[in-house]
Amino acid sequence: MRYVDEIIELVEKKNPAEPEFHQAVKEVLNSLRPVIEANEEVYRREALLERLVEPDRQIKFRVPWVDDKGQVQVNTGYRVQFNNSIGPYKGGLRLHPSVNLGIIKFLGFEQIFKNSLTGLPIGGGKGGSDFDPKGKSDREVMAFCKSFMTELYKYIGADVDVPAGDIGTGAREIGYMFGQYKKITGLYEGVLTGKGLSYGGSLARKEATGYGLLYLTEEMLKCNGKDLAGKTVCISGSGNVAIYAAEKASQLGAKVVTVSDSTGWVYDPEGIDLGLLKEVKEVKRARLTEYARARSSAEYHEGRGVWTVKCDIALPCATQNELHLEDAKALVSNGCIAVAEGANMPTTLEATEYLQKNGVLFAPGKAANAGGVATSALEMSQNSERLSWTFEEVDTKLKNIMVNIFHNLDAAAKKYGHEGDYVVGANIAGFEKVAEAMLAQGVC
Ligand code: GLU
Repeated sequence: MRYVDEIIELVEKKNPAEPEFHQAVKEVLNSLRPVIEANEEVYRREALLERLVEPDRQIKFRVPWVDDKGQVQVNTGYRVQFNNSIGPYKGGLRLHPSVNLGIIKFLGFEQIFKNSLTGLPIGGGKGGSDFDPKGKSDREVMAFCKSFMTELYKYIGADVDVPAGDIGTGAREIGYMFGQYKKITGLYEGVLTGKGLSYGGSLARKEATGYGLLYLTEEMLKCNGKDLAGKTVCISGSGNVAIYAAEKASQLGAKVVTVSDSTGWVYDPEGIDLGLLKEVKEVKRARLTEYARARSSAEYHEGRGVWTVKCDIALPCATQNELHLEDAKALVSNGCIAVAEGANMPTTLEATEYLQKNGVLFAPGKAANAGGVATSALEMSQNSERLSWTFEEVDTKLKNIMVNIFHNLDAAAKKYGHEGDYVVGANIAGFEKVAEAMLAQGVC
């Protein structure tokens, strides 16, 4: 049996009932075959893959808090510190009712390669809780965040593990957690990123994942003789990634016609009104029905359906496994030329394969959405030197990072005979640096 197949089997056996983790491992390891087969003897002797798929540690804890009625609530908190061979663990905290250990492990595993691709010294980790911030008062969110940090603080630190935002965790939640970390430890340090600007946050961090997605997409199109300007774009999601992806897409001359949330989606043939979208989502924290109510050109539909709209470019920016095989078929038959993932693993394995077989340019999330964590690393640099850079400085660095990521994965795909397969390219480019660092550091 080949080494890769043995490891896939091992992961399924050792981590039962974690389908998302299995999916992420399969996607990565299958595309690493050319590199692994070329180095099989060394990797086997060093148990490199066994070490790569086993997190350094996984922390699971109780998070008790009191709701507005005086009732005690209990959630489960997680932090999976996956791999710190190239830098301190780095990755977001997801607050969503769907969160479980398998989801955090898939996200942490992806983060290892994503963070490596940024070219910055950050390892891979992820955390979160099954707490649902939706519909909670500010006081309830604060109570949860403070309780969450009361346990998490033991395991993190500016040079150890630096959590950040993800679904359900934005500047508000990071603020409450930062306050609690400082209160318990007495340390004022860059232990979290995505902080507010008044206490160590970085300009352009909020925009970074969405902007970075478009910088990479633009470069991918350019290198394939195509252009972003004038194109119609479908976006799913309406959170931080989707909003700033839509903003940069319109700045670059494309028209964004859809957004979605967990209950429905909006089709706005005139182009999404960003001012209104930000007001509904960032200020009122309301549903997209509010957007549709306030805008006469917009249609609101219940359920899912963004990928049935005719577009040139599709940017899934909601969550994992939201673009299925039938969606991929609809996109191809509507003439879509490119899919770039703003979310983590939004496209299923079958859908990815179908898109690639049908000539659609496909940029995987670990490359395409790396702008967020890359800018988090820039926030860490600013915190270390106790300085803040201008928006333009950060944005220019972000753009360079995204353009470099694209060229690195393009080159890695070519080097191993898979020209144009950016999934293979991203996984190989991300893996090579981590593997080299792990081998250099010996058995640990
Ligand atoms: N949650 C984001 C991601 O999936 C950002 C993580 C960070 O900034 O550390 O990459």
